[in-house]
Amino acid sequence: MYIYADNAATTKMSQTAADTMVRCMQEYWGNPSSLYMTGQKAKEVLEQARTDVASVINAQPREIIFTSGGSEADNQAIRSAAAAGAKKGKKHIISTAFEHHAVLHTLKKLESEGFEVTLLPVHENGIVVPAELEAAIRPDTCLVTIMYANNEIGTIQPIRELGAICRKHGVLFHTDAVQAVGHLPIDVQTDNIDMMSASAHKFHGPKGCGFLYVKKGIVLTNLIEGGAQERGKRAGTENVPGIAAMAAALKEAAGSMQKNSAHQTALRDRLIEGLSNIPHSALNGDASMRLPGNVNFCFEGIEGESLLLLLDDRGISASSGSACTSGSLDPSHVLLAIGRVHDVAHGSLRLTLGEDATEEQVDYIIKNVAEVVEHLRGFSPVWRELKEGKRSYIL
Ligand SMILES: *Cc1c(COP(=O)(O)O)cnc(C)c1O
Repeated sequence: MYIYADNAATTKMSQTAADTMVRCMQEYWGNPSSLYMTGQKAKEVLEQARTDVASVINAQPREIIFTSGGSEADNQAIRSAAAAGAKKGKKHIISTAFEHHAVLHTLKKLESEGFEVTLLPVHENGIVVPAELEAAIRPDTCLVTIMYANNEIGTIQPIRELGAICRKHGVLFHTDAVQAVGHLPIDVQTDNIDMMSASAHKFHGPKGCGFLYVKKGIVLTNLIEGGAQERGKRAGTENVPGIAAMAAALKEAAGSMQKNSAHQTALRDRLIEGLSNIPHSALNGDASMRLPGNVNFCFEGIEGESLLLLLDDRGISASSGSACTSGSLDPSHVLLAIGRVHDVAHGSLRLTLGEDATEEQVDYIIKNVAEVVEHLRGFSPVWRELKEGKRSYIL
């Protein structure tokens, strides 16, 4: 059996998205900035994609800027708010400790440029407390950036309330919604969102393609200078096939969201229940306010990396944290942010189920994770010390 359970890292392109992409490459290959027919046909495809993307999130087409993905959208949103803030002498930004590195590293850069950053706690359940956001807002706060749903532990933030607080205080509100778009119902109007990042490859679209929603009236700063594409805010000939495929994938995801969500949630809860039976284990993040396909556990006394390799041998693709940090031996900053100690955070496993996951697959995962954890504990010196009482259990 082969099971791909790392949909938070990337998703497989849907057939519709792949077909759209190929058709565009063959039929609508013109430069959308060209005035002759071949260019204008590509332009039509581009603008139809903009309309389709906008309608899924209840935005206007002119509020959508196409980017190379989630990281670029995050960088541009944050840089733009910072530049606008600096002009008014406002150089304070609020975020959280468990954002994606595209956000955290941009904020680090801004700190070195004289900005002050407050990172709100996300607590044991991985959820920001709105009153704590309100208390952190200062007269010089120019931006609040809080992710819609976390990419490692899947917890969903009270975005509407957080956005309402920002509106009340006249502070720009950006959300990295890369894990949420195409998976959760999002309405930028009722959610009180000013700027929002999304990435196609997290909802069965192509890699290297994403968008930034920017509420009308907000001024963007360019990251890439050049031609006048994207209303002069993002230079470079548009990736028409990628953008059309992204729009197709998003429409498809939006159309089957309710059905997919119910299916994935049931399987997620079955998986959580099964893995909870492994002794000295714990679910990371809130049990219900989480993405439909996300399961993240810590197992005491083992290394997440070994667990992954042995699961790979058994046909299960999973992750120990975010794909972006694998390869480094630091424990996940997300697990540390929810209060897991280093030793425990090292023994983590993230399983993110797709829309086509089955009960049979979930049961296969439960059985194999249980076996592999027991096997690894069998020769773990830490586990021996725990069993002999030389160390106390944390979980
Ligand atoms: C994947 C991801 C990103 C980065 O998106 P790319 O399109 O890969 O650049 C940013 N934020 C979150 C929450 C993500 O999951």
